[in-house]
Amino acid sequence: MARTIESPYLPGPGPWLRGNLHTHTTASDGNLSPQATVDAYAAMGYDFLMISDHDRVTPLDALDPKGMTLIHGNEITANGPHMLHVNATGRVEPFRDRQAVIDSVNAMGGMAIMNHPNWESHFNHCDQRTLAMLNGYTGIEIYNGVTLRAEGSPLATDRWDMLLIQGRRVWGFADDDNHDDVDRGVCWNVVQSASRSLEAILEVLRMGRFYASTGVVIDEIRVEGSRIRVFSQNAQAFHVHYDYGCTAARVNGSELDFEVPDSARWRYVRIECFGPGASQAWTQPFFLRG
Ligand SMILES: [Zn+2]
Ligand SMILES: [Zn+2]
Repeated sequence: MARTIESPYLPGPGPWLRGNLHTHTTASDGNLSPQATVDAYAAMGYDFLMISDHDRVTPLDALDPKGMTLIHGNEITANGPHMLHVNATGRVEPFRDRQAVIDSVNAMGGMAIMNHPNWESHFNHCDQRTLAMLNGYTGIEIYNGVTLRAEGSPLATDRWDMLLIQGRRVWGFADDDNHDDVDRGVCWNVVQSASRSLEAILEVLRMGRFYASTGVVIDEIRVEGSRIRVFSQNAQAFHVHYDYGCTAARVNGSELDFEVPDSARWRYVRIECFGPGASQAWTQPFFLRG
């Protein structure tokens, strides 16, 4: 029986929009005012930005967006593992019961993203049991910029693989979580959307039509039958991962053409791209059916 590779991406080059969903300002513990934060991201060429101060929704309507699409957000912080409320049309109480928080976020038409699972000296800000138990969140931060200079690991693809193998459809996000100047522009999400409207960006985020990056630029992600093809401007190597993070292939170059073996009974495949320096990009998982 033929296998089907489910891809969240559209064939063809982009159009791609770049943005950050985790940003602090002086409204909580960030170093710049909301407007200065917007100015800084606009100057780096970003297309969208979410302000996510701790346990509050920072008002955006009086700000000059400088051409970007601004998204209201809140980093739900007190009483448990941190999570982002994307498209926060109101403030959600940081209930100890995090499932109640996620349910409130979804009821308001927002999205929840679990933050920096491997942050803190014990590398376990949000333990795996909690991630596995909670339902209804859209994704997790597989890369959290500020954790580069904090205890723990910015990377959480290990957590992601453990969720994906359980059949969970959760997307991988890369967010600066900037508090200071050095945290800005560390990593980002690149969505495939012809429209810059808030609704369009939220929609593609929800369906996983984006990749996460610390510097590798992807032009196109295409699935042709049993092949997954990735075209990059500056990748130097690709790793193809499947169930539990196992590695199926390591390929050098700026283009990948990977054929999922007929005999493979994998649940999912995902691609990691490696570029100059320590730069990387992560595609969302391709789920296999049949
Ligand atoms: Zn946090
Ligand atoms: Zn934060």
